[in-house]
Amino acid sequence: MAQEDMFKKLVSHCKEYGFVFPSSEIYDGLGAVYDYGQYGVELKNNIRKYWWDSMTLLHENVVGIDSAIFMHPTIWKASGHVDAFNDPLIDNRDSKKRYRADVLIEEHLAKIEDKINKETEKAAKRFGESFDEAQFRSTNARVLEYQAKWDEIHSRFAKALNDSNLEELRQIILDCEIVCPISGSRNWTEVRQFNLMFSTDMGSTADGALKIYLRPETAQGIFVNFLNVQKTGRMKIPFGIAQTGKAFRNEIVARQFIFRMREFEQMEMQFFIRPGEELDWFKRWKETRLRWHKAMGLGDHKYRYHDHEKLAHYANAATDIEFEMPFGFKEVEGIHSRTDFDLSQHEKYSGKKIQYFDPELNKSYTPYVIETSIGLDRCFLSLLAGSYVEEALDNGETRVVLKLPAALAPVKLAVLPLVRKDGLPEKAEEIINMLRFDFRCQYDEKDSIGKRYRRQDAIGTPYCITIDHDTPNDNCVTIRFRDTMEQERVAIDKLHEIITEKVSMKTLLKKIID
Ligand code: ATP
Repeated sequence: MAQEDMFKKLVSHCKEYGFVFPSSEIYDGLGAVYDYGQYGVELKNNIRKYWWDSMTLLHENVVGIDSAIFMHPTIWKASGHVDAFNDPLIDNRDSKKRYRADVLIEEHLAKIEDKINKETEKAAKRFGESFDEAQFRSTNARVLEYQAKWDEIHSRFAKALNDSNLEELRQIILDCEIVCPISGSRNWTEVRQFNLMFSTDMGSTADGALKIYLRPETAQGIFVNFLNVQKTGRMKIPFGIAQTGKAFRNEIVARQFIFRMREFEQMEMQFFIRPGEELDWFKRWKETRLRWHKAMGLGDHKYRYHDHEKLAHYANAATDIEFEMPFGFKEVEGIHSRTDFDLSQHEKYSGKKIQYFDPELNKSYTPYVIETSIGLDRCFLSLLAGSYVEEALDNGETRVVLKLPAALAPVKLAVLPLVRKDGLPEKAEEIINMLRFDFRCQYDEKDSIGKRYRRQDAIGTPYCITIDHDTPNDNCVTIRFRDTMEQERVAIDKLHEIITEKVSMKTLLKKIID
């Protein structure tokens, strides 16, 4: 299936099965804002819990907080967001559509990379076993030509970003002959900077009202609480503070469903360390975070690191963990070595000393920080994209199944009486009453058993339990496994154990540390 079709299917599946709805739909929606439905919210809660537990249970020295969305406006001055949280935007005069100039160039670079990969794949097929990929890439004339082009654009692009040279960004777009995907024209405006923060007024009187911002990241709530947590928790460096919560960005281009939203949720952890130890900790967190992603079992090859071309002036290392979305490899999480920038800035702007006395070194210093920052909604999208499968069945039908990790699936088991009589519904109720305290169960008695299985497959329920006429006599049920569709007859009192083994969060958490 073409990736584009696959993405469309995924979006409509999300709506049809109660995962994600466009916000304010009966009023024709609101750009790049979405609501989570009855299954979406369960999946989202499970991902959040998986992240939270991985941070606060697996690391004794990581604790959580929940800071307010509204914060003192000077925080955003100190953090640099008021002056520099900008994206370079460009308009196409014919289509009147707005784009991020950097994204247009990145997409152009990705197309060149694609061409190189296609050439390589073709050659690999032609030469079979004797194919030497490294040699081919370093000698094939066409590949070398593409690579030279890529290198040239890439180095101009990196320099333009580093120098914030907007004219040069526009020039690259013109030189690469990048066209607007809607109008097909190259009639571009100048490139301008656009601040992504939403603002509002707090307070009732006109002159007493304070202009405040909706937080564009949760991280600053952690930095301004550094001393509170360190002192009250008697935390010793190294230690981390984790937080999940809503963030808001007035994104210029917001087209890819929940990949880029104007209201979204972040899960961030700031890890405070001794200056000089940052590159070592950066490496460790990079590895830990990748293990967290891979433990979900969507396929290791679907993840890759992408080191940043442009480092923020305060960062000395930064990488993204990218996932292969239906529209290419895209950032899901950022890991940044932020030096002492944030704490120093807050010290400067607040006038309060923000330092740590290290008893082992017998001196005070401003801690350095490694940040791990993941978008909950993007992680949600990666899970859906990585688990959505259309499978041809032996009887000629197709089943759509979400092969979600059992621990994260919204519903853990469906309990299905074969018929709506003969005491079978009552038996089903008994089983649900036994299991409901530990697992989200769903009762379904409508339609044929096949149809009921399909409905559960479509929402990713790992287990279906069927109650038949023998059940009241032998106290056994048939358990059907989502991925293999295999069925097994098991005793009712074994159910808890069988289900726990797979759906407990422990199974995922253990994979991270093993
Ligand atoms: P991008 O380059 O895609 O705009 P970013 O580098 O600005 O992302 P960060 O500021 O590093 O993103 O934010 C950390 C994480 O927050 C990202 O990895 C992503 O998962 C998530 N995130 C950022 N912006 C959005 C958004 N508009 N919608 C959904 N998630 C987002």
